[in-house]
Amino acid sequence: MNKTDALIIGAGPTGLFTAHQLKLIGLNCEVIDNLDKIGGQCIELYPDKPIYDIPAIPECTGEELTKNLINQLKPFDIKFHLNERVDEVKKEGDNWIVKTSYDKIFSTPNVIIAGGVGSFEPRKFSVKECEKFENKSIFYSIRDKKIFEKKIVTIFGGGDSALDWAVELSNNSNVNLVHRRDDFRGAQATVDRVHELVKNGKINLYTKFQISSIKGEDHLESVEIKSEDKELKTLKTDYLLGFFGLIMQLGPIANWGLNIDKKTIEVDTEKFQTNHKGIYAVGDICTYPGKLKLILSGFHEGALAARACFKLARPNEKYRFEFTTSSKTLKDRLGVKSD
Ligand SMILES: Cc1cc2nc3c(=O)[nH]c(=O)nc-3n(C[C@H](O)[C@H](O)[C@H](O)COP(=O)(O)OP(=O)(O)OC[C@H]3O[C@@H](n4cnc5c(N)ncnc54)[C@H](O)[C@@H]3O)c2cc1C
Repeated sequence: MNKTDALIIGAGPTGLFTAHQLKLIGLNCEVIDNLDKIGGQCIELYPDKPIYDIPAIPECTGEELTKNLINQLKPFDIKFHLNERVDEVKKEGDNWIVKTSYDKIFSTPNVIIAGGVGSFEPRKFSVKECEKFENKSIFYSIRDKKIFEKKIVTIFGGGDSALDWAVELSNNSNVNLVHRRDDFRGAQATVDRVHELVKNGKINLYTKFQISSIKGEDHLESVEIKSEDKELKTLKTDYLLGFFGLIMQLGPIANWGLNIDKKTIEVDTEKFQTNHKGIYAVGDICTYPGKLKLILSGFHEGALAARACFKLARPNEKYRFEFTTSSKTLKDRLGVKSD
C-alpha cells in the first residue's frame, strides 16, 4: 500500500499546480491520471491553441503551459501514475483508501479531486466479446510496447495514435492496420510513412473495413473484419489495439457519495472541501457560487486546498504562511540559494 500526505486525482493544469503547492508547504503527494500523458484538456484537446488569460503569460499554447507547469515541479520528487483511473475512494479510520484500475492502493488523509470534466476514456470496440480480453490482448493505450515484439498486432483507427503506433510497432511486430475509410486523419508525414511501409510489406493495410467479430477462448486467436460491401476477412492476431479517440465521462467519481450538481462537485470556498472531510475538489470539476471554469481559478483553488491538507496530514504542527521570496525553508525546498 502506498502512503502519502495527499493524493491528487487528475494531472491537468489544476492538479499540477496543486502538487506544486503541496510540495512547497512540505507535504508529500502523488498524482494519478487516466490519460497516458500529463496536461489534461490543455494537452488532449488544444495543445497548439494559444491561451491569452494566464496571469503574467500574455500568450502560450496548451502544450507550452503544460511544459511550464511540469518545469515548475522539477525541484520536487513527485510520482505520477498515468494510464490509471481512480475507481474507488473509501474511508478507513482517519484515512481514505483509494484504489485504481490497475489495483494500486493508496492510503491518505487527503484526496484532492482535480478531475476536470471527468476522466478521458477511450472509445471502445463495439463487439461485446472484446471486454473479455481487455487489458490482456485488447488495448486502447500502450503501457509497455515490448509485449508486442515478434507478435501479430492488429491496429484499428485512422488518426495520429493509430498511425504512429503502426509505424513504431512495424519495427518488431507483424502489423495489420484496419481503418473504416480510405483517407487518414493523421499528420501527412506519418500518413506518407505508413503508405511507404505498406509498399515495403511491413504493414498490411485494410481500408473501408471494420471489426465484425473476434475468436478465441483462453487467448485471442483472430479478428474478423467486414468491408462496406459485406466482404469478410479473417486475420490471425495476437493483439488488438483500438484508437478511436476519447470521450469524457464523470465516471467512477459519481459513486463516491459526493454532493454532485450537474456533473460538478459542490465545495466550500475556504478549503474547497466537499461534503466529506479530507476530500477536496478543485478546477473544472468543482462548483460554488460564482465559479469560473478557467485555469486561473483552478490555481487559486488548489493553493487553498493544499493548505487545508496540512492540518490533516500534520495534526501536531501549525501551518505558517510564508513568501517564496523571503522564506529560507521554502527556498530550500525549491533548491534555490537563500540570500
Ligand atoms: C478548446 C478549449 C479551449 C480552452 N481555452 C481556455 C483558455 O483560453 N483559458 C482558460 O483559462 N481555460 C481554457 N479552457 C478551459 C481549461 O482547459 C480548463 O479550465 C482546464 O483544463 C481545467 O483544468 P483541470 O486540471 O481542472 O481539468 P482537466 O484539464 O480536465 O484535467 C483533468 C484530468 O483528470 C483526469 N481524471 C478525471 N477523472 C479521473 C479518474 N477517476 N482517475 C484518473 N484520472 C481522472 C482526466 O483524465 C484529466 O486528465 C479551454 C478548454 C477547451 C476545451
